[in-house]
Amino acid sequence: MADGTIKQLNPFTDNEVWSVPGRAAKPAANGFESEHPEVSAADLTSFCSFCTDRIFESPPEKSRLVRNEDFSFTRHDHVRPSELKEAPWLFRRVANLFEIVTVDYWKKNYSYFLSKENLAWKERYLADPVGEQHVHDILAYKMRATGISQKQIDQIPEDVILLLADAFFGGSHELIIASQHFAANATNAGQLYSSGSMTAEEHHQYFKFTIDSMADIFAANRYIRYISIFQNWLAPAGASFDHLHKQLVGIDDWGASIRHQIDMLRADPNIYNELGANLSSMHNLTFAENDHAIAFAGIGHRHPTIEIFSKSYFSRPYEHSEEEIRGVSDLVHACHAASGAEISSNEEWYYTPIDAVYKMPWHVLIKWRVNTAAGFEGGTSIYINPIAPLDLRDRIVPNLYRLRNEGRIASSIRIAEECKIYPNPLRYYLE
Ligand SMILES: [Zn+2]
Repeated sequence: MADGTIKQLNPFTDNEVWSVPGRAAKPAANGFESEHPEVSAADLTSFCSFCTDRIFESPPEKSRLVRNEDFSFTRHDHVRPSELKEAPWLFRRVANLFEIVTVDYWKKNYSYFLSKENLAWKERYLADPVGEQHVHDILAYKMRATGISQKQIDQIPEDVILLLADAFFGGSHELIIASQHFAANATNAGQLYSSGSMTAEEHHQYFKFTIDSMADIFAANRYIRYISIFQNWLAPAGASFDHLHKQLVGIDDWGASIRHQIDMLRADPNIYNELGANLSSMHNLTFAENDHAIAFAGIGHRHPTIEIFSKSYFSRPYEHSEEEIRGVSDLVHACHAASGAEISSNEEWYYTPIDAVYKMPWHVLIKWRVNTAAGFEGGTSIYINPIAPLDLRDRIVPNLYRLRNEGRIASSIRIAEECKIYPNPLRYYLE
């Protein structure tokens, strides 16, 4: 519009979004550093329930990723409870204590039961005295949190307790927890360890570890049709802890958004090039790429949103080669680093559901949670996004150049005019 208002329609969701000049105030960062309390050296490893000194405050550990002396990485599954404190780890995978889709949902609606492997693991875990104590403590903690008194908990028969523990050993809502809560040498509680704080290699391991977990969840529960994967960073994005973690939630549905996008794919298989990559190139919104992925500022989102698409022929994360995963990971990592740890965000993964025959390319959205919908949005269904796509691009690009010069993101990333723009860069649609 003549006054500078930018009206957008999201081509995939039909969201109506306006960016109005004057509302593009600097995004609210996570408070000023001086407002955060000081942290001691001991706090760095014991600040919250996800911290390394407090591993028994989360459910039994399914896997951990360990960095070896030669800087390679090894995944260790089902470490014995009495040995959990021994080896340092980079990432751990545990059940979510408060499941969105519960193990009971699968049991009661589908007659689901734990796999032979998970049952055997449960028995081994409970046979270890440290493990048995851990399971009882964590269940009691969960029940107290839901308002059940200790007296009532003490009266629950042992066989019921053991059944409740199934959520930890065969549930389908999992967390991937990073080891660090704070940035290196942090002195106050605002100096957090975020996705962008990692090296590109660590971030690649974070992605691979998450993708391995997807495969495990599918293998353990054959009723799952889609696994929702996301990362809520900081409280405005819905995170309970300021401690970096991803979540994976198995569901027996695709959800309305994926269903709608699959319908669009049936009508036009090339839709993600036409209304995604090609459209953003035509509007100069594509700001970074490498040989395996492309990043642009998204059109028509309620929050400022960065979209990263895999260029692979393959459309599910676990079908990608190691090199392709690295390509997507490098761009997601760079976009997080360029956003900064103080920006609250949701990272959301999208890909072809396991039971879909129409291919949707694997893509990751990073939504900056810097604005809150209010009465105007409620009344009109017109959403005010304070940062227009071109402005978002212009905030990111200088940071990408700086970070690449400093060696903090992958050197193979091409930025802004270095990008090789050509039509149909996403190859998922090829026969
Ligand atoms: Zn923590």
